Amino acid sequence: MTNQNVVASDEKSVLSVSWITVSLPNSPLLTLRPVVSVTRKLLKNLETNNGSPKINACWVDSMRASSPTRVNSPMASLSETDKHTSWIARHPSALTMFDQIADASLGKQIVLFLDYDGTLSPIVEDPDRAFMTNEMREAVRDAAEYFPIAIVTGRCYDKVYSFVKLAGLYYAGSHGMDIKGPSKSCTHNKGNHNPVLFQPASEFLPMIEEVYKSLEEKTKSIPGARVENNKFCLSVHFRCVDEKSWDALAELVRSVVNEYPKLKLTQGRKVLEIRPTIKWDKGRALEFLLEALGYANSADVLPVYIGDDRTDEDAFKVLRDRGQGFGIVVSKVPKETNASYSLQDPTEVMVFLRRLVEWKVALLRRR
Ligand SMILES: [Mg+2]
Repeated sequence: MTNQNVVASDEKSVLSVSWITVSLPNSPLLTLRPVVSVTRKLLKNLETNNGSPKINACWVDSMRASSPTRVNSPMASLSETDKHTSWIARHPSALTMFDQIADASLGKQIVLFLDYDGTLSPIVEDPDRAFMTNEMREAVRDAAEYFPIAIVTGRCYDKVYSFVKLAGLYYAGSHGMDIKGPSKSCTHNKGNHNPVLFQPASEFLPMIEEVYKSLEEKTKSIPGARVENNKFCLSVHFRCVDEKSWDALAELVRSVVNEYPKLKLTQGRKVLEIRPTIKWDKGRALEFLLEALGYANSADVLPVYIGDDRTDEDAFKVLRDRGQGFGIVVSKVPKETNASYSLQDPTEVMVFLRRLVEWKVALLRRR
C-alpha cells in the first residue's frame, strides 16, 4: 500500500493557522502549537485502507439484534440483571467513580472530548431534530470555562454547530475529518467562523457529492430511507425504514458505493456510512487535537472522551493504548467497549459535566 491516495490538497488551510491562542477564564492560557508539524506527521500515516467497499453479510442481522452491540457469550446464559451487574463492575458509573477521576486529574489539565448524538442529545428518529437542551448547552458552556472541549461527531461541522451553537469549542466533524478550532472572538454567538485546523479528506469532496446525489435519487424508491450529507462522509439512515426493506436498501447502497473503490462502507446505529478509505477516525482526531494543544507527549493532561457509538471506540482505544485519560461510554445496556467507565444517558452526561465544574471551582477556591 502506498501513499498515492493521501490527501494533502488542503495543506494550505492547515498552514494558514500557525498559532492559535485560547483564553479560558480561570485556567492557564493555552497556546496551540504550530499545526504544520502535527499535520505532516499525521499525513504520513494517512495511507488508504483497502478500497473495496464491503458490507458484512450479517450486518442487517447485527443491526436488528442490537445497536450498539451487546455483550454475548460467555454471559449469554446470565439473566439480564446479572449481565448488567457484571458489566457495571467492569465499566462503573463515572458518577460513582467521580472522586477517583478527579483525583487522577490533580496537577493535570482535563481536556474533554464529547460525541454529539446520544451523548449530548437524545437519539431521535429525525436526525435533523436531534436538539440538545438549553440545560445541556449551559453545562457544556460552563465546563468550557475550565477545560478545553472538542465535539467529535459523525455529523458535518455546519450541522453540529447549528445544534451546539458554542463558538468557544473545538469541533471535529465528519468523524474527525473536519477539525476546526475555537473562535477567538467570543465563547457563545450565532456565527460560524471557527478556523479550519485540519481536513485530511478534502480531495474526496467532489466524489462524496456525486455519490450523495446518486443515493438521494435511488433511495427515493424505499419509503423512510434518508441520506444525510455530512460533507466528508454520507449517512444512510435506516431508522424510519420498514425492517423488511433493510436488505434491499443495504444492497442498493452497496451497489452504488461499489463503483467507488476509494470509498468504504461502515455500519453504525441503524445507519450505513460511506467514507473515504483513508485511515482517519475519531481516535486520530483525538490524537491530532491533543498534539495541537501541546499535549502530544505530555504527562500533564487527562483526556476524557465521552461517547455512545461504535465509532467512539476508536477514541477509547487510543486512550487505553496511551494509558492516559478515560473513555466513558454512554449506554444503558451492556456492550463491548474499550471505555473505562459508563454513563447511562445524556442526562447523566450533563450531571457529570456539572460535577466537574463544581469540583474545579471548589479546587480553585481552596488555593
Ligand atoms: Mg453518538
